[in-house]
Amino acid sequence: MDVAWNRIAALYQFQCTGCEDNCCKSLFFHHTHVEKAYLRHGFDQLEPGRKNDILSRAEDYCQKAFIENETGKSRKLICPLNEKGRCILYPYRPMICRLHGLPHEIRKPGLPPLMGKGCSAGQFHDKGYIPFDRTPFYQNMARLEADYRQKSQKNGKIRETVAQMLLSS
Ligand code: SF4
Repeated sequence: MDVAWNRIAALYQFQCTGCEDNCCKSLFFHHTHVEKAYLRHGFDQLEPGRKNDILSRAEDYCQKAFIENETGKSRKLICPLNEKGRCILYPYRPMICRLHGLPHEIRKPGLPPLMGKGCSAGQFHDKGYIPFDRTPFYQNMARLEADYRQKSQKNGKIRETVAQMLLSS
């Protein structure tokens, strides 16, 4: 996933250097137990003091994130794992964090591809589309999740932000 993303980004000559529309401020929900387990595996390797700081930010995030503001839009809050613009658990981050930013397509049988336009920092509207098909990554993740569910006996639905994943077991 990372290799493919970097290859396409290089073809666009796109480098993420941080921006106002920071994707770590987007309200993303994650839907697999395997991604949660991997993120928590990374989290478990941090020093206890650092963990406590992150958990306190995660609690703060959850208290504020789901209150609708006056415009009716979700609040743009920074993910509790982002420190000084960088992801503390970068190698363990979920799939959507890895795939975000680039124009892409998602294919479902019998339907036209669903196109994503990429983040505003990339100015991709001025450039021709370079094919980046997310479908194989979603399919592989589904296989990993099925395998993990079978082995861990975790079968319930999951829809959690990173903050929620850190706060719940
Ligand atoms: S997990 Fe890391 S990359 Fe994903 S939103 Fe949080 S800080 Fe950003």
